[in-house]
Amino acid sequence: MSELFGDFDLHRKGQPLRLAILGCTGSIGSQAIDICRRYPERVQLVAASAHSQLDKLLELAQEFSLAALAVTDETLAGDERLSRLSHSCELSFGEKALNELAERSDVDCVLVAVTGLVGIWSTYAALCAGKRVACANKEALVAGGDILMQAARPGQLIPVDSEHNAIYQCLVGEDTRYINRLWITCSGGPFWGWSREALAQATPEQALAHPNWAMGDKITVDSATLMNKGLEVIEAHHLFSMDYDKISVVIHRQSKIHSMVEFADGSVKAQIGPSDMRIPIQYALSYPERWDAPAEPVDFLSLGDLSFSAPDVEVFRALRLALDAGRTGGSLPCVMNAANEIANEAFRQGTISLVGIDEVVERVMDAHDTRPLEDLDHIRRSDAWARTTARELVKELSC
Ligand code: NDP
Ligand code: MG
Repeated sequence: MSELFGDFDLHRKGQPLRLAILGCTGSIGSQAIDICRRYPERVQLVAASAHSQLDKLLELAQEFSLAALAVTDETLAGDERLSRLSHSCELSFGEKALNELAERSDVDCVLVAVTGLVGIWSTYAALCAGKRVACANKEALVAGGDILMQAARPGQLIPVDSEHNAIYQCLVGEDTRYINRLWITCSGGPFWGWSREALAQATPEQALAHPNWAMGDKITVDSATLMNKGLEVIEAHHLFSMDYDKISVVIHRQSKIHSMVEFADGSVKAQIGPSDMRIPIQYALSYPERWDAPAEPVDFLSLGDLSFSAPDVEVFRALRLALDAGRTGGSLPCVMNAANEIANEAFRQGTISLVGIDEVVERVMDAHDTRPLEDLDHIRRSDAWARTTARELVKELSC
């Protein structure tokens, strides 16, 4: 097990944490902004990126007097709204602009909250530049976990994903040699209990109505297919250097237990809290401190029953495919992730059915010649191949 908790010093002796948010306009990004507003004496937002929501980015630049902005959609480079910036602020465009923010000397911590593999290059850049990385972007860890974890010093990377943040919290102060098993909880999503035939008829509107969490569209659809849980098992494998045999998924409809760690002596530690992503985001910024709760605490007297059951991987095949990809390793998780990104988007656009997502993923995985992962460039090539192959299959399946 890699050393999770090192002496990576972040808190600058009473000075606020200087933060860059990559993807400040999204669900995670907006909730992180909420924390910046709550704790101006503890967190200083220095830099932020957006892809398409330029107005929102410019408002934030004004509100926080940001020193640097990145707009990843290059077509916005000449947009006249940029002239609204009334203070001096560095501006950069395109995917590479994320790396520039991640490496800035006036940034201590980078919150990676963009969606999709696009987050991997800046996550790597931030790690190499010695920043703390609060990582929400699971696709980066799925595709390149080996490479990212090798670049991370102990204590440098703190997971934001609620399950992994929960496990991280359970492991503080523990000797990791005594871990028996990681239990990753899963709400089951909006289609829990549905048959495969019923799933084939599910609409994007139904898939986007998650019972417990309000999240970005891509992850919400991943939660409906249970691909999200598959990605999270791979994420946990890398973050906690845990064998796949020692990671279990358990359906827990209420989303109150965010995950659990079982130890050799039979003790199990669980992290329990409200279904509010601001809690893990804040923890990733405050660690090793704990700041006041941004949400109402759980009231155990009115909580009701908590339920647990096994996932059905015959109906939710995406989970099984992701587990297969994780166990095989090498370039396959990267390819599986890329195929899923394309198929997920095609479903949201109404081009393929929900079950078409796992069909595309499976066929792209079958067509792939898995190789040991070499470096980031290998990831870029495998990702590009998988996207092209997935797009062709989407055309074939389009309804
Ligand atoms: P959203 O879709 O809400 O936000 C995505 C962010 O990324 C936005 O700021 C968006 O900019 C930006 N973005 C979109 N496309 C690109 C691109 N091509 N290049 C660079 N930036 C881009 O996503 P979420 O906040 O829900 O999720 C972010 C990450 O966190 C994902 O990896 C997700 O799996 C993970 N996560 C999310 C959770 C949640 O509760 N939402 C929980 C656990 C993990 P713009 O809006 O300006 O277009
Ligand atoms: Mg999660």
